Amino acid sequence: MKCGNSNELIHKDVVIIGNGPSGIALSYMLSGNIPYVTSTTHPDELLSIRLEPVLNQSLVDVNLPFLSQGLEGRTTNPVSLLLDSLVHPCADIGLELDSLVEWRKDGQKIDHVVLGKGPPGGSWHSMDPDILTLSLGSWMSLPGMKYQSRNSSEKRAPAKSIADYYARYVEEMGLSQNFRNKVLVTKIEPYIVDESDCKGKWVEKVNNDICQKMRLCSRPERKDLARSKSYSLSNAFNYILNRGQDRCPKRSWEQNEGRDMDTADDQRDIDAQYTVRKKRDKDRSISLSSACELTCDKCNLNNGHTPSVPAHRIKYNCCDSSSRSPRWIVEAIDLDTKACVRYTCNNLVLANGSSDLPNKLNISKYKTDPYWLLHDLRSLEIELDLHLQNNPQPDPVLVVGAGLSAADAIIATKAKNVPVVHLFRNKTDLTKQLPENMYPEYHKVHQMMKNGSNYPLYTALAEYTLTSLDEYNRKATITSKDGKSLEISVSYVVVLIGSRPDLGFLPGNFNLGVKRQLPIDGKKNTANVDKFTHQVQGHEGLYAIGPLAGDNFVRFLPGGALAVLSDIVKRTATK
Ligand SMILES: Cc1cc2nc3c(=O)[nH]c(=O)nc-3n(C[C@H](O)[C@H](O)[C@H](O)COP(=O)(O)OP(=O)(O)OC[C@H]3O[C@@H](n4cnc5c(N)ncnc54)[C@H](O)[C@@H]3O)c2cc1C
Repeated sequence: MKCGNSNELIHKDVVIIGNGPSGIALSYMLSGNIPYVTSTTHPDELLSIRLEPVLNQSLVDVNLPFLSQGLEGRTTNPVSLLLDSLVHPCADIGLELDSLVEWRKDGQKIDHVVLGKGPPGGSWHSMDPDILTLSLGSWMSLPGMKYQSRNSSEKRAPAKSIADYYARYVEEMGLSQNFRNKVLVTKIEPYIVDESDCKGKWVEKVNNDICQKMRLCSRPERKDLARSKSYSLSNAFNYILNRGQDRCPKRSWEQNEGRDMDTADDQRDIDAQYTVRKKRDKDRSISLSSACELTCDKCNLNNGHTPSVPAHRIKYNCCDSSSRSPRWIVEAIDLDTKACVRYTCNNLVLANGSSDLPNKLNISKYKTDPYWLLHDLRSLEIELDLHLQNNPQPDPVLVVGAGLSAADAIIATKAKNVPVVHLFRNKTDLTKQLPENMYPEYHKVHQMMKNGSNYPLYTALAEYTLTSLDEYNRKATITSKDGKSLEISVSYVVVLIGSRPDLGFLPGNFNLGVKRQLPIDGKKNTANVDKFTHQVQGHEGLYAIGPLAGDNFVRFLPGGALAVLSDIVKRTATK
């Protein structure tokens, strides 16, 4: 989906992409709700000692690296571990102790917006409503409002109750005005600005033509343009202005003397050169089609240029010492009205989770999927219910995968009295770290996987792979490790082999993962963030939280949000 021209341009201090529990927790904190240490009595004696000097202080202002020293758990993010250790002390060893933190609404309110495709609650609204959480229901709570189980015997909660709780949380905590739901972010870019000073005259004008042409070149190319000896600064910009994307001189990454060009310093170089050039070009007439104008809220100054189309004014308080020029521009589409909306912001937070794109098998790479090949449990349940209306004795559902989602699909299919053929490559232990008394259904599936086909409505095919699909005859060919092939008729094939984030809105040259050349996922290659601030390395004002940054459980998400808040507050204070 492409965003056309739009006049809606709004400035926010913080824009958050993703309205799941990560985005919600951060919005709560940016709305002035901050955690105070109210007790130092923690079973971890060393943590108790470290807490002593910060008793009754807000965690936003303290030395987070010091406090989180030596903590370990199910994430590698120290601030996430710290806040979780304080809110659920030693929960992993089964203790149910009081929180050492109290949330008080006396923090700075920071202007922000949370953008999300669906209702607040993020991926919880797209899960099968009946699956039960892995975590205890109480661990799904966000700060300041507990998730209430439906009854005292409920330990794990249905996904639907959690989704409803997050939507209610946003309303009850008074956050709704900061949420813009049903919008899809399609593009983000660094915002190229002229940071003139604010001594009486503060002016900012975005010339989309220039910026557009700059952006048409990838960042290394822009850098090359500016650095190349054969181009003076102004030549470089003339080059960009006068020629277009197709004429950017191509130089390979390696030709840049092996240096990593994708750093904040490089961006500052480009910005500085742009500033110089813009000053020189002040009186030159440049086409300002779809130009936007930022006008200081207090001194109401602008640079006197009249754009050729009506400009959108952004109220932006340049006279306030805490305000800065925006660093990022975000483009989104309102999914109801199809209108395009743009935001500029100083801080941009990627909180878009890691479950938007299902992993697919190679057979999906070269062919369009037949409609009976599915990649999520919710669609399987809906499709199967419709199919059963006309086919009371359906062919089996072929479930591919050996994780918990595949187990959920097996349970749901069998519950509809539909036979399951379960295909998996390795004999993995599905129930590792899951005690049987808490997770009996997964232990049952694990047992069936081990014992093969001695169960009604279930056949296990270990060490098989799906090799082709006969689209017209609704048949699947599966092949064993030793090359034996089998063709089976199926009602549906459901492939559940994990998912990854959809980061299609990032500029093409943004490789944000720890392993730069590999795509980001929540487990093997998270975003390369500073562990204490969650700022993405090399990109000032860009943050990542939640699974994107390696926090894969809800109880750790508020910690990531705290790291971001603390960094934004500290940076603002030092400006
Ligand atoms: C089946 C399943 C079961 C789970 N069970 C548990 C559990 O028991 N306990 C637990 O702690 N965790 C569990 N998790 C993990 C948990 O869901 C995540 O850790 C948590 O939801 C992450 O929250 P988030 O806000 O970072 O991302 P999400 O919840 O994924 O929310 C991000 C939202 O941003 C949206 N988005 C993405 N791109 C864009 C865009 N371009 N524009 C607008 N919006 C966008 C996404 O569609 C999504 O709705 C489970 C996950 C799954 C998939």
